[in-house]
Amino acid sequence: MNIAAEHPAQAAQQGLRTAKLLIDGEFVESKSAEWRDIVNPATQEVIGRVPFATVDEVNAAVAAAHKAFQTWRTTPLGVRMRLMLKFQDLVRQNMKRVAATLTAEQGKTLPDAEGDIFRGLEVVEHACSISTLQQGEFAENVAGGVDTYTLRQPIGVCAGITPFNFPAMIPLWMFPMAIVCGNTFVLKPSEQDPLSTMELVELAVQAGIPPGVLNVVHGGKQVVDAICTHPDIKAISFVGSTAVGTHVYNLGSQHGKRVQSMMGAKNHAVVLPDANKEQTLNALAGAGFGAAGQRCMATSVVVLVGASKDWLPDLVERARGLTVNGGTEPNTDVGPVVSRSAKERILGLIEKGVDEGATLSLDGRGVAVAGYEKGNFIGPTIFSGVTTDMSIYQTEIFGPVICVLEAATLDDAIALVNRNPMGNGVGLFTQSGAAARKFQSEIDIGQVGINIPIPVPVPSFSFTGSRGSKLGDLGPYGKQVVQFYTQTKTVTARWFDDATVNDGVNTTISLR
Ligand code: NAD
Repeated sequence: MNIAAEHPAQAAQQGLRTAKLLIDGEFVESKSAEWRDIVNPATQEVIGRVPFATVDEVNAAVAAAHKAFQTWRTTPLGVRMRLMLKFQDLVRQNMKRVAATLTAEQGKTLPDAEGDIFRGLEVVEHACSISTLQQGEFAENVAGGVDTYTLRQPIGVCAGITPFNFPAMIPLWMFPMAIVCGNTFVLKPSEQDPLSTMELVELAVQAGIPPGVLNVVHGGKQVVDAICTHPDIKAISFVGSTAVGTHVYNLGSQHGKRVQSMMGAKNHAVVLPDANKEQTLNALAGAGFGAAGQRCMATSVVVLVGASKDWLPDLVERARGLTVNGGTEPNTDVGPVVSRSAKERILGLIEKGVDEGATLSLDGRGVAVAGYEKGNFIGPTIFSGVTTDMSIYQTEIFGPVICVLEAATLDDAIALVNRNPMGNGVGLFTQSGAAARKFQSEIDIGQVGINIPIPVPVPSFSFTGSRGSKLGDLGPYGKQVVQFYTQTKTVTARWFDDATVNDGVNTTISLR
């Protein structure tokens, strides 16, 4: 890990930004002695520093959130909603500025960075309808003169832990919905690219989120473990790798918290020979290599069914035609991967694929990008002849690599996908409604795309990854997350007419 122990004042002297903590409404410099460089993946230029906060700083953030909850929980729905309306307006106005920061620290292309922000902005827009989302239920006369109703109440201090690959969208999945439901929040962004997240947090404060309602701490395992074990945190939303997500789920649950963990993936695209060929090839190349394959919903496995196996050379040509370049360059399709270590890990897996006997139909190693000689670039890479026992099939590569397998029939393809332990997303490409209907019914994956390669649901639905890609019941955003960030209180009430004097002692459990 790249630890820089310099004091923040030195960072300022060097013209570098530091990621601030947000505690009780104040953006403050961490007192930590442990700092890490934030590096532009296209140039290796250090663009900022991020602290690994101390446990005292985590405790201060939680204490501020705990205090703010006492008043925020009863703040009227309309006030919370209008705050989100203001926030969405500010995000929209500042989209290009935040996208530039996001590309500089994460590497994805500028249009894709705007997409990252936009998919999060849609969640903020949905948060504006909280007055209809957070309604309870009412049943009149469940017994003589007795009514039962539910209240959907906020649960307290909630926390969010986010990954590097969507530094805008995923924080925006979390804190707007938690806060608009009446909770207060502690956010722990990815330490690899926290600056764009912080620009969004600054806009939230500018929109009027009161002190203590939103707090931010930076760091790694120590900070995450402090969040998972803190007695005043009631719920944790995690998005990231399977190993860390499992740890957060287990530790947080052991400490009595509600936890949702959205984790790693291996997303298959099943191609039937009747599919619209050109559109299918476009979709596969875009979803496999966009964001350099660093999306939890990236297409990483293509299953060519029957005669569609003949499309492999066309897929290779489509991928070869993509432009690899710095994310700020116009017409770039594939930017760098996030870090040198990510590049080494991906190259190691490609090497392993070759060793294990897969055919390297397109080799993206050694791609040269003029003007960005130090960048972490890997060109689109396609393995064919892949079998399910190979490491490249079993591991989430999280880079611009597609594994191609073949299946004789749709039934065989469905069985193959269902045998994979992961369950984030899957796509089917066909012009047959009957095949699509069979597929959506029999496939055991939480998010299904029919001629849609990255089926991330819009925020009026919920993100519904499944099986090995998820721990916990309820997904982020949408109606499910309103349930996650609230608890149901059931009230059973009877009001007596003044004329009612005595209807006898009821020694049974039955309501009369
Ligand atoms: P990561 O698990 O390394 O990091 C996620 C968060 O956990 C970060 O905030 C990080 O600081 C923290 N963390 C890292 N190591 C830790 C440890 N040992 N103990 C406690 N906390 C730790 O994930 P990443 O590399 O940032 O993101 C890529 C992964 O996220 C991929 O596996 C991808 O599939 C997954 N992802 C999943 C979804 C989804 O919705 N299912 C969405 C985006 C990304």
